[in-house]
Amino acid sequence: MNKNQLLRQLPSVNDIIKHEKADQLTEEYNRDLLIQGIRDELEYQRRKILKLLDKERFEEAEAIVDSLTLEKILDNIASNLEKEFRPQLAPVVNGTGVIVHTNLGRSLLSKEAKEMVEMVASHYNTLEIDRNTGERGSRYDNVEELICRLTGAEAAFVVNNNAAAVLLAISTFASGKEIIISRGELIEIGGSFRIPAVMEQGGADLVEVGTTNKVYIEDYAREINENTGMLLKVHTSNYKVVGFTEEVGLDQLVQLGHKYDIPVLDDLGSGVFLDMTEFGLEREPTVAERVEAGGDIVTFSGDKILGGPQAGIIVGRKDLIEKMKKHPLTRAVRVDKYTLAALEGTLKAYLRPETVIDKIPTLNMLSLDRDDLREPAKELQASLKDVLPDNIKCQIEEDISRVGGGAYPLSELPTLTVTIDWPGVGASKIASALRSHYPPIFTRIKDEKLVIDLRTLQEGDQEIIIDAFKELEVE
Ligand SMILES: *Cc1c(COP(=O)(O)O)cnc(C)c1O
Repeated sequence: MNKNQLLRQLPSVNDIIKHEKADQLTEEYNRDLLIQGIRDELEYQRRKILKLLDKERFEEAEAIVDSLTLEKILDNIASNLEKEFRPQLAPVVNGTGVIVHTNLGRSLLSKEAKEMVEMVASHYNTLEIDRNTGERGSRYDNVEELICRLTGAEAAFVVNNNAAAVLLAISTFASGKEIIISRGELIEIGGSFRIPAVMEQGGADLVEVGTTNKVYIEDYAREINENTGMLLKVHTSNYKVVGFTEEVGLDQLVQLGHKYDIPVLDDLGSGVFLDMTEFGLEREPTVAERVEAGGDIVTFSGDKILGGPQAGIIVGRKDLIEKMKKHPLTRAVRVDKYTLAALEGTLKAYLRPETVIDKIPTLNMLSLDRDDLREPAKELQASLKDVLPDNIKCQIEEDISRVGGGAYPLSELPTLTVTIDWPGVGASKIASALRSHYPPIFTRIKDEKLVIDLRTLQEGDQEIIIDAFKELEVE
């Protein structure tokens, strides 16, 4: 049989669309999508056949044509359409061990926060209404009260993210003026957020003081003039200057600021409410401590260690925060009802310190130690051994997980991993195949082995991993 005769044996678009299985697909999608799906599938099969014919593998080509009944083709099309309509923003299994993984969505919400989001999504709600008067109210009131209660601050405010909070503060107080900052704090965090660039955007001139490793209060004092708009302290959350160093405490900076009536902005990065040494992490100041130290304006992220939705939380002096609220930029960086709902749900958990670690997934994952992970690690190893060929080594190993989100760069969280050593198949190939699975699975690679960190796996993830390995196709 020649090439054309063979290809002509494939059914036509018309044949396929007349089949009863096609009716079902027309109902589920629509006729145009189905026709496109049929064309794509036929084209795909034709190419596969031609490729075999080119290599003179005639029998295999004929076998494919024979196998392609109308039903089989429609099954393929149904599966293709189903895949096409899966969420592009897909749920993933995080086997990387990085808890606040910025590329994988940072924080998972607590049950209460999720319920709040679901509630505002399904019901009209009191977003901007005063129930007593029936008049328009402020969308921020509920969470502001909570934030003040938890931090001891006089006033609070919430915007889209911490970057927006910093930009808003700079624009409000230092546009057309100078900002004094230590050379050691001119940071870049991920996604090209650079402090000097943000200052420029806010219309402020940067005045650097001190050196990379040392700065003294006199360095700041020397630069103060009538055009100084703000003193800025940036918490260097994603790196540490260690060794021969000297930095100026927030309390000293605030004292200096108050003497000249200049506001001090403290960008905390990933603010925390709890003493993180409990989790084996380095000591970092809590938000309440920064407020106590007199922080005029303290800003931090809602979705880093706090474990809530993406948000920039601002706490501090009432007069300053009122001024920020009146800035035109405020409307542009306004949070929506979902953020406010999730934030309220998250913050309420912090009112009860004895249960907060159980409730907030980020804190929960931070608190796990190797003993907590031993049982799940054994389970995963055993199930993997069941589905993997005997020559593949699957072991439990001790390793280190990371906090992520540019926080606690030096902290090492002792963890357990399951590693897979597949002779002849590179770990990056397996990793890539796992990412192509649905739901996608993200892992890490160490010493040429694939590593799945137990710390960041959620309920049900082990089953997804096992299914993926059952179907795994590595070339
Ligand atoms: C993460 C971080 C930011 C930005 O916060 P987002 O909420 O991601 O916008 C700003 N400053 C510091 C010091 C940070 O660590």
